[in-house]
Amino acid sequence: MRAVKTVPVGRTGSDEPWAPLIAGVRHSPHGCAVTSAEGVVLGCNAAWHSLLGRAQADCVGKPVESLLWTSGDLVEVGDAIGELNRTAAGALEFDARPVPPGNPEQCIGVSVTRIEPAEPVALFLWQITDSTRREQFEIRARQLEEVLQQSGDSIVVKDLNAVVTFWNREATSLYGFTPEEAIGHTLREPHAAELSEADYARVLARIRAGKPTASTAERRKKSGEMVRVANKTSPLTDAQGRLTGEITIARDVTAMHRAEESLRSAQASLESRLKAIREANRKLAREVASRRKTEEALRGANLTLESTVRQLESFNHDDEVLSRMAELLQSCAQRDEAYTVVRETARQLFPAVVGTLHIYRESRDVLEHVATWGKEQTPEPALAPDDCWALRLGRPHYVHSQSVIRCHHAYDATSCYVCMPVQGEGHVLGLLHLALDVGIETERPAETTDRRLRAMVDRLGPALANLKLRDSLRMLALHDALTGLYNRRYMEDALQRELRRVERSRKPLSLVMIDIDHFKRFNDTFGHDAGDYVLGAIAKVITTNVRSSDLACRYGGEELAVLLPEANLECAMARAEKLRLAIRELSLTHRGQTLPAPTASFGVAEYPVHGENLPEFLKAADRALYRAKEAGRDQVCAAEA
Ligand code: GH3
Ligand code: MG
Ligand code: MG
Repeated sequence: MRAVKTVPVGRTGSDEPWAPLIAGVRHSPHGCAVTSAEGVVLGCNAAWHSLLGRAQADCVGKPVESLLWTSGDLVEVGDAIGELNRTAAGALEFDARPVPPGNPEQCIGVSVTRIEPAEPVALFLWQITDSTRREQFEIRARQLEEVLQQSGDSIVVKDLNAVVTFWNREATSLYGFTPEEAIGHTLREPHAAELSEADYARVLARIRAGKPTASTAERRKKSGEMVRVANKTSPLTDAQGRLTGEITIARDVTAMHRAEESLRSAQASLESRLKAIREANRKLAREVASRRKTEEALRGANLTLESTVRQLESFNHDDEVLSRMAELLQSCAQRDEAYTVVRETARQLFPAVVGTLHIYRESRDVLEHVATWGKEQTPEPALAPDDCWALRLGRPHYVHSQSVIRCHHAYDATSCYVCMPVQGEGHVLGLLHLALDVGIETERPAETTDRRLRAMVDRLGPALANLKLRDSLRMLALHDALTGLYNRRYMEDALQRELRRVERSRKPLSLVMIDIDHFKRFNDTFGHDAGDYVLGAIAKVITTNVRSSDLACRYGGEELAVLLPEANLECAMARAEKLRLAIRELSLTHRGQTLPAPTASFGVAEYPVHGENLPEFLKAADRALYRAKEAGRDQVCAAEA
């Protein structure tokens, strides 16, 4: 080590060997001072003392350590002098701060050089510059680097040749390469080894184009494992705005990518399941709709079936009722019985409906009321065909509550009703009137009611015609055609019947035998036709002068008889006398010719007073008649006991 000769303090004259040096830097913007080997300021320029914030006199003669200080890892000022003295090193550089009264925040760049203008005296040239800004820059750069290091993302800086110039801790942890292994190498060497030539060329072109990008890429770790990263690159420029490279911020998105992938695949599978479910739903909806349709059709069919069954039941019921009516009518012996059957049938078919039945009289000029049901009031006993629209028109007449075309015989002006002509054997036989509901719009009763009504009338007509026919036949069989009286056969049957009744009841029975006087002569005089006419007139006198329970009959040619149940001889004699007088009072004209009044003779007998059996009883009456003839005719004779 070389010995350093120290310059004595206070030697500040211009003759000093360092004086020319100070003079030379008098105007330098850098602070310059010359110290002794011990570090005592021998001389300084204006920039020096102004940088330290002192007067020149406050600097010269002072040890540098009292003007400048260092802290932290900076070189101690004193040590620096010792170091320079100790070693052969020619120069030393460090940062320092001015010892107050200068600005304590100020950073001063110090450069110390040993000058040996005159051996053996060692002198040091101190040059200082204000490096506060540089220091601030450096601090900020350090802070920035720390920020970059601390960042949770991998940050890699490359120059224009893709050579890595910065590699933060996260880059190491992401790729596995240390900064030493990465910095100074093109990015193909550490983590982008997988890049093809073409891709690498593209990366280079990108860096040099200076455009920001964002992408994801596969990178290989030092371990060989692949990692997916999301890259964001930004161009880097220097202070002058020249492109110097690129900064890449990368983040490991492998897990996210995997999650995304599995999410995507889960979504795809969900979507496909959803699609399947939707399809199944559609199919189900179609099936449900078709089932509903089928069910509706079934329900409709069921309803139709039910109504058909109901209709059938009603048809059956109607049919039963009507068949029974027809059967009963068939078996009726008398018309009254038939009308009772009609009334009961109508009550069954149309419960609680008021109705009447009118039947044409034989004369066909009026209709007689024969049956009423459903109300107390009995209608007029007869109605003229003109009183009813149905009879006038020869078809059913329907009347609703607002109809104005109403029949005369239907007196209740507010009610609905139906008039049905009853037809049989080609003739209108009568009129069925029913107070049925008639629809205002349809002008018909309800369909079922209408059908029932027609069915009844259809059955009733022929049945009544049949009854009428049978009546006529019975009339023919039992009555005498000329006089309308019962014939002899009926008379004999009736006599047998009445005799038996007398035996049971012990009530009297009388018989009046009648024979027209000199009828042969009458025929001979006025002709047979006139005789017939007189015969008919006498028969009418008899029927109008006996009770309805008495039976008048034509017993022979001009012989008549009246059977009087429950009448004794006396009563029968009186009746015979009345008849005798009525006959002889007849005034008859036939074909413009006045005929003489006829007379008749009467024989009266009482059973069993005048005969214990039918032949004896008849014979007794006959004998009485004979005696009346014998006695001069035109008189009444009682049988002899
Ligand atoms: P008498 O007073 O004794 O009974 O005399 P009569 O002439 O009535 O008695 P007779 O037995 O001699 O004659 C009965 C007559 O009655 C004979 C017949 O011409 C007549 N006659 C019987 N049946 C009918 C008939 O249906 N029509 C007509 N016009 N005449 C009849
Ligand atoms: Mg006679
Ligand atoms: Mg006679």
